[in-house]
Amino acid sequence: MVMRTINVSGVKFEFNDKLLLNYPGQTLAKLCEDVQQGSNPNDDAAGCTEIVVERPAEGFAAVLAFYQTGELHMPVSMCPRAFRRELQFWNVNAADLQQCCAFKSVFIKLLRIILIWPKGRVWRLNTTLTTKSFHGGLFT
Ligand SMILES: [Zn+2]
Repeated sequence: MVMRTINVSGVKFEFNDKLLLNYPGQTLAKLCEDVQQGSNPNDDAAGCTEIVVERPAEGFAAVLAFYQTGELHMPVSMCPRAFRRELQFWNVNAADLQQCCAFKSVFIKLLRIILIWPKGRVWRLNTTLTTKSFHGGLFT
């Protein structure tokens, strides 16, 4: 196993690539494979390879923490939609989001609906919230 360095929009993270053994199809594992095969253009003169990615660092920090702890949490500073976009980029399943953050996401969604709700319009909630709807539709 190899220690890797990834530079995400100027923020450097180091991790042992054995973290990725359980996530072979995900973007970070593929980037490490590219480095392994020498197709990364960011090798320096000493032969050290740094993976460089232009994405929001806070989203990646959450993804790396997921690999390290097995728990996926949404950063407080990120909008649920922006976080969803990052999960898509890193090819991490949104269904892995912990329940605390799934509820937080639904709460933000409801708050957004309340804040933009047209005056005089009748409130009808005809959706049954289930665990599946929290995980499957929380970002829609
Ligand atoms: Zn959480």
